[in-house]
Amino acid sequence: MSANGLNAIDRLVALLSKLPGIGKKSATRMAYYILDADPSYSRLLAEQLLSLHSVIKRCSRCGSFTETDPCPICSDHSRDASIICVIERPQDIRVIEESREFRGQFHVLGGLIAPLEGVGPDDLSIGKLLARIRAEQIREVILAMNPTVEGDTTALYLQKLLKDLDVEVTRLASGLPVGGDLEYADRLTLSRSFRGRVKV
Ligand SMILES: [Zn+2]
Repeated sequence: MSANGLNAIDRLVALLSKLPGIGKKSATRMAYYILDADPSYSRLLAEQLLSLHSVIKRCSRCGSFTETDPCPICSDHSRDASIICVIERPQDIRVIEESREFRGQFHVLGGLIAPLEGVGPDDLSIGKLLARIRAEQIREVILAMNPTVEGDTTALYLQKLLKDLDVEVTRLASGLPVGGDLEYADRLTLSRSFRGRVKV
């Protein structure tokens, strides 16, 4: 193999190892897999990556990633439009949807209050949340942040903010699995099933 070819692999490995959870070893395995695979695979992969940002947008209502605006969840009329589940990031929706426990609306904050990192309430989609609660006759707001310092701070801030509104505020007891990992999502589903168990 030529020196140039090796450099191209090194460059690919460097890019792949930036992905979360991918170390240099896995990145190297991926790079060689791509190289060994039919060229149509790498073409397809490259095309998907290139089109990602032009195809995926933010839903103007909930702030989630979507190809259509409003997103499929916001435009699903079979869902309960009077309950909003407030989450940190768009990928949290996937985890909650997997659990099949929730059939309401979502609102993506776009982060958590983290003073040490310079993230304040104004950096989050809180004004829009308040506007939605008022405009959409919301009766319950579920705060579904992770039980971390930032998650608790954000939930507390929202609790105080929503106190004066005519809306019920609840919070998930266990929070979301860190990283939105599907392995943990199964656990979440399980724990919810346990909590919701009924006597037969
Ligand atoms: Zn939406």
